[in-house]
Order: sequence, then structure tokens, then C-alpha cells
Amino acid sequence: MRWSVRLGFHQSRLVIWHTAWVLDRGERGTHESSMAKVICSEAIWRVVDRSMQILGGLGITDDTIVARLFRDIRPFRIYDGPSEVHRWSIARRVLRAGTATFA
Ligand SMILES: Cc1cc2nc3c(=O)[nH]c(=O)nc-3n(C[C@H](O)[C@H](O)[C@H](O)COP(=O)(O)OP(=O)(O)OC[C@H]3O[C@@H](n4cnc5c(N)ncnc54)[C@H](O)[C@@H]3O)c2cc1C
Repeated sequence: MRWSVRLGFHQSRLVIWHTAWVLDRGERGTHESSMAKVICSEAIWRVVDRSMQILGGLGITDDTIVARLFRDIRPFRIYDGPSEVHRWSIARRVLRAGTATFA
């Protein structure tokens, strides 16, 4: 399970760096920040979900920090636009621009 946690963090770092690079170039970065929001919020969610699964029943109690993280992290997939809405707007931009631009 730890390898997939690393994978999620690495993907998140790369997508954040890429978005920052696009913004540094003076571009709006709407597409990139949408992708970053979905990738990072879902990656961190998987980390907390796995952490709770590893701990079993203990993970649900207040004896560890995981239950609190679970509660705090879950809204990331909702606020600033739910993942579904970001996916919809990413798809719309891809379809509008044609596959060449976002390939
Ligand atoms: C902790 C927290 C902090 C927040 N902070 C702020 C803030 O600082 N500023 C601010 O402006 N707002 C803030 N919000 C509001 C947040 O941005 C909205 O909750 C979010 O945009 C979702 O809107 P909604 O709650 O009305 O859900 P709805 O729009 O009713 O969506 C409910 C669900 O329906 C589905 N859905 C909705 N639209 C689509 C679609 N087009 N395609 C497919 N599925 C869809 C999704 O699964 C979604 O989760 C915050 C919310 C939370 C929970």
C-alpha cells in the first residue's frame, strides 16, 4: 500500500509543479488547475481511506488522528467544485480544442 501512497504524492507534486509553471508563463491555467484539483483531492482521499482501512476499527475511533483527517480531507473532493464538475469542464475543453491540444 505504501507504494501507491508514494505514487499519489508524486503525481500530485508533478501536477502542482506543472500548473505553477503554466501560471508562471502568464497563462490562465484553468485547465491545469482543474486537473490538479481533481488529482490531488482524490490522491489525498485515497491515502486517508487506506490509512483508515489499515487501522481497521481503531481508525474509526478518536484514539488516532486518522478519523479527524478522514473528516477534514473528504470535503476536498467537494469544495471549489466537486470532482464531477471539474471532470465535466476538462472534458468540455478537450472536446472544444480537439485532441491535438491536450494529447
Ligand atoms: C468545507 C467547505 C468549505 C467551502 N468553502 C467555500 C468557500 O470558501 N467559498 C465558496 O464560494 N464556496 C465554498 N464551499 C462551497 C463549495 O464550493 C460547494 O459545496 C461546491 O461547489 C459544491 O456545490 P454544492 O454543495 O451546491 O453541491 P451541488 O452542486 O449540489 O453538487 C452535489 C453533487 O452533485 C454532483 N454534481 C453536481 N454538478 C454536477 C455535474 N455538472 N455533473 C456531474 N455531477 C454533478 C456532484 O457529485 C456533487 O458532489 C465550501 C464547501 C465546503 C464543504
